[in-house]
Amino acid sequence: MSEQMNDMHADGQQADWQRGIEEDMLRNLAMPLMQLVRGEGSSVWDSEGNRYLDFLSGIAVLSLGHAHPVFVEAVSSQAATLAHVSNYFSTPPQIALARTIKRLAETGPEGRVYFCNSGTEANEAAFKLARLHGGGTRSRILTLNRSFHGRTMGALALTGQPALHEPFAPMVPGVEHIDATIEALEASIDETVAALFVEPIQGEAGVLPLPQGFLQAARELTERHGALLIIDEIQTGAGRTGAWFGFQHSGITPDAITLAKGLGGGFPIGALVTYGRASELFSPGSHGSTFGGNPLATHVAGAVLGEIERAGLVQNAAERGVQMREAIEAIGSPLVENVRGAGLLLGVALTAPVAKQVLAAAQAHGLIVNAPGENILRIAPALTIGDAEIAEFAQKLAAALADVQRAHAAEAAPAAATEETA
Ligand SMILES: *Cc1c(COP(=O)(O)O)cnc(C)c1O
Repeated sequence: MSEQMNDMHADGQQADWQRGIEEDMLRNLAMPLMQLVRGEGSSVWDSEGNRYLDFLSGIAVLSLGHAHPVFVEAVSSQAATLAHVSNYFSTPPQIALARTIKRLAETGPEGRVYFCNSGTEANEAAFKLARLHGGGTRSRILTLNRSFHGRTMGALALTGQPALHEPFAPMVPGVEHIDATIEALEASIDETVAALFVEPIQGEAGVLPLPQGFLQAARELTERHGALLIIDEIQTGAGRTGAWFGFQHSGITPDAITLAKGLGGGFPIGALVTYGRASELFSPGSHGSTFGGNPLATHVAGAVLGEIERAGLVQNAAERGVQMREAIEAIGSPLVENVRGAGLLLGVALTAPVAKQVLAAAQAHGLIVNAPGENILRIAPALTIGDAEIAEFAQKLAAALADVQRAHAAEAAPAAATEETA
């Protein structure tokens, strides 16, 4: 194909996918940034052949990056062996994955695992766990303001964002949202509370860590009042924060954790993992999912966790996280307020509400990151990244920040001048 024909072909494709979004897809999402067609490692390519460094990895999903040989082999071999059988049957990959998760999440022998297909479903299962624990007398469930627990009605009720509730009211009853402070928790918790849900780091709210000592206090208070402590590890789990699970930084033992995102490395899977007596709450027939725990999903997740462990990627996440933080600070941009988060779940707080502009500039320089708020960038690369990816990231982010800084300064200068003359 000539270059010109290539361009025409690309233009045609570009117009076609935009038409597809406008005419064929339900309008539940904002306009996608672009159409991506291929990935390898930390690189993705759009339909026009441009390459991007992917430091969002499908929102902390692609633990091993794109098209990792272990992932490819696991999907192919299991698809060719046994993909799905329904929950009338058990399969070896399902039991193997449950055992691996119990070991990594340190549940001890009493731990149990329920498999589903997404984060929101894992939290739906956890919601039902809380109701079973409540047993009709403990009707309240506490979650934190600004939290994100998913989009289905139960998980949406758990989510501490009134703007997301409003169009879908009435919400599932019984959920109360409190500030993420030990004082607010002390004031709210009593014998009528069935469970407290928390994220170790609020990813969707802008990579907000919990206050120092919060998880330890939450453990102590929930135990004292007989409530379950349920930790939403959907974004922070599977090695993302430099520990297998985010709660492990705090030294506590929860009653349950929920998993999804990075667990399948790109293959849809979620899980509810219970500890101790919480493991005895469900009984046959009380919950289920047709796809949940099928051999294809559980084999792939087992292979992903196996590779994270074999290649030392939890440690890599911890070390590369520190290196990334230093690299971002070393850019010395006046737009960067601070860098927060843990391991390879990082938030870059900006000094001005220009996250959208930085995102667009980064994309123009061939870098994909994300903006969960107007003054915050979220960065969540594959756990496999090394020196080369970090160097490229720093160079591209620096260029994007410089572009936006220039535009921002140019915008600010005439405004200041007008103020003086007025
Ligand atoms: C993404 C996310 C969810 C929802 O997961 P889905 O797979 O999108 O349903 C829930 N909780 C947290 C903390 C998340 O980051």
